[in-house]
Amino acid sequence: MTALAPPAGGGCRSTPVLKQRGQREVFCGLTGIIWLHRKMQDAFFLVIGSRTCAHLLQSAAGVMIFAEPRFGTAIMEETDLAGMADSQKEVDRVVAQLLERRPDIRQLFLVGSCPSEVIKIDLARAAERLSAQYAPRVRVLNYSGSGIETTFTQGEDAALASIVPVLPASDARELLVVGALPDVVEDQMLSLLSAMGVGPVRCLPAHRVDQETGVGPNTVFALVQPFLGDTHAALVKRGARHIAAPFPFGEEGTTAWLAAVATEFGVDAETFARVTEAPRARARRAIAQASEVLNGKSVFFFPDSQLEIPLARFLTRECGMTAIEVGSPYIHDGLVGPDLDLLPAGPVISEGQDVDLQLDRARAARPDLTVCGLGLANPLEAEGLTTKWAIELVFTPVHFYEQAGDLAGLFSRPVRRKQLLKLEAAE
Ligand code: SF4
Repeated sequence: MTALAPPAGGGCRSTPVLKQRGQREVFCGLTGIIWLHRKMQDAFFLVIGSRTCAHLLQSAAGVMIFAEPRFGTAIMEETDLAGMADSQKEVDRVVAQLLERRPDIRQLFLVGSCPSEVIKIDLARAAERLSAQYAPRVRVLNYSGSGIETTFTQGEDAALASIVPVLPASDARELLVVGALPDVVEDQMLSLLSAMGVGPVRCLPAHRVDQETGVGPNTVFALVQPFLGDTHAALVKRGARHIAAPFPFGEEGTTAWLAAVATEFGVDAETFARVTEAPRARARRAIAQASEVLNGKSVFFFPDSQLEIPLARFLTRECGMTAIEVGSPYIHDGLVGPDLDLLPAGPVISEGQDVDLQLDRARAARPDLTVCGLGLANPLEAEGLTTKWAIELVFTPVHFYEQAGDLAGLFSRPVRRKQLLKLEAAE
């Protein structure tokens, strides 16, 4: 297992970062509930929020209205907002009703929102009190999904970070894979690790609370999502050690991620090659096919999902694109440093956003593809730019070898569509 070679002209790790703060265009952290409630099968996410919060969740996960949902919103009324009602009592009442009706709930997340933060409802106090009241049947935790100064993937980070302190202590030598993956992708990853003899392997989040692992000084953990800065810090605080690696996007990223884990667990080079050879070849073929149209094109990332740096590494190294600007809401060197090492020098690396200034830069650069949030995509399309919605990258299975072709396909589809439209217009 050899480490990936850095780019000939150097990587971006030491590139000065353009930091701007101003108006931002992102979804809030409540969005994470959409994928977390599917993953955590005995959890319920109770948002303490407004009608806007309820609408966001219902429109994003509308299909759930036909099933028993595992998320809901306790809507704050005017009396709550005016501070006339005892908010702690109100939370107790709603939770009691919910848990009586839903005996299947084993873990309950009280999720803060913009309004609950503005009027400073102390959800940590509520979670502590309710946990004591409903233990051991139900564990009650809290985190904030508010859109004030956060971006949408931070919801998952905050949820996982709230779990870490209550995991039992353990001295077992275990690998903890951190970050919610679709089940099919998680199974592929576990099967690769098992074929290499790496184990025991645990996942955070677990499907059910009774499948959770302990954590301690012999725990090593690998992240599969680059937006888990708080969870990383919480695990380090519990004594666990992080295996730094590029994120498992594309053939290269997946191989480098697996290689870092394999090295930690003493897997020999022959075993590693035997296990990875066939899926690597499949991934390379799929990427080559899906990325034909991307070769030689330029890409501009607005900050949104925090996946931007690893994805720019994938697009530049494996799909032949040139990055003009790679913007990310936050840049955590301990997490994305290995990807920055591999991202060829050249693009502006920016952190945070002043959306008007960044739009000016994108308009001046006229990239072939702009990756941005929903709110910017339509106006930019109207100006003739080709766009990709960043949120799709979080909702679509894109990690590890078997999804590498689909990942390239997500970027090539809008470029191909634009080419077809141009052809039609010319006829
Ligand atoms: S948490 Fe804030 S940004 Fe998110 S839906 Fe509620 S009010 Fe809107």
